Amino acid sequence: MSVRQTEGRGLFESILDTVGDTPTVRINRIAPKDVTIYVKFEAFNPAGSVKDRLALNIIEGAERRGELKPGQTVVEATSGNTGIGLAMVCAAKGYPLVVTMADSFSIERRRLMRFLGAKVVLTPRTAKGFGMYQKAKELAEANGWFLASQFETADNAEIHENTTAREIISDFNGKKLDYFVTGYGTGGTVSGVGRVLRKERPETKIILTEPANAALVASGYINTRNDSHQPTEGHPEFQPHPIQGWTPDFIPWVLQEAMDGNYYDELLPVAGADGIEWSRRLAAEEGIFTGISGGSTFAVSMKVAESAPDGSVILCMLPDTGERYLSTPLFEGIAEDMTDEEVALSQSTPSHQL
Ligand code: PMP
Repeated sequence: MSVRQTEGRGLFESILDTVGDTPTVRINRIAPKDVTIYVKFEAFNPAGSVKDRLALNIIEGAERRGELKPGQTVVEATSGNTGIGLAMVCAAKGYPLVVTMADSFSIERRRLMRFLGAKVVLTPRTAKGFGMYQKAKELAEANGWFLASQFETADNAEIHENTTAREIISDFNGKKLDYFVTGYGTGGTVSGVGRVLRKERPETKIILTEPANAALVASGYINTRNDSHQPTEGHPEFQPHPIQGWTPDFIPWVLQEAMDGNYYDELLPVAGADGIEWSRRLAAEEGIFTGISGGSTFAVSMKVAESAPDGSVILCMLPDTGERYLSTPLFEGIAEDMTDEEVALSQSTPSHQL
């Protein structure tokens, strides 16, 4: 392998034209010998996550339908990546953005959104995902703002059907694809990709995963919703979990399509600690720097690999970049000062600091 000779990706008229077409990358050092694992690495999107796709389609869908007027404020409840994606899209198109977010999510997410020009309204962590959602709804109603509604809008699964899934179909055209592994936040990825794989690659097993301590789908209980498909209660099985971006404290409407349509063959729980461990290994042993949800999806992919027949091919979604997690448990124990080993290295040649 060497640095590629390349002609470049070409000239783009807007940052928005660079959303999607993310690379599918083979795992070379930590995958089991007889199974091939690829990751679809969504950190390559311009604002660093899979949610850039959704953000672009929500705004452009609303523009097409005349629901969003020039200069109108956009508002959304988001744990971060959707907010960062929306902030990028709104900045490029000139819409003001207000994001509501529980104060438990990482500091860098708030600061990133503010850096991208958005306003961030914090809600108490005790009110969970439901609380930040309520706040966004109230602000939209009180001010006549456009509520992005990532958990209900048809624009969500649609963009994954039209982009993420098409990229997968194209990358694996004429090749084996035995398993597709993903978690869910809104469920847009699994519902959109599921629509296409079920039709065009029916042999591909779809594996859905959720946090072991917030196994909402596995519980069999579906929270109540109103006429707009918004949740009207928190899910009783929800517990706070470290996999940011996954599993809010309700089962979203967008995910319901995958549940009703049998878009997954297996539902596997994963412990947050395993996700953190595999995220670290992906970075340190493969050079692939993804967040906790990526590590968790990869943990499940490695589980699937254990019992998969030799020669199987697995595709694992990696939703975002690990840079978004510097102040979270992902970086716990990563030293700021020199370790003993580093001090010894420093002292091993003449120009060392005392
Ligand atoms: N991982 C992270 C870090 C996310 O932000 C999200 C989206 N909230 C997901 C995974 C899940 O994607 P989806 O909403 O398409 O289910």
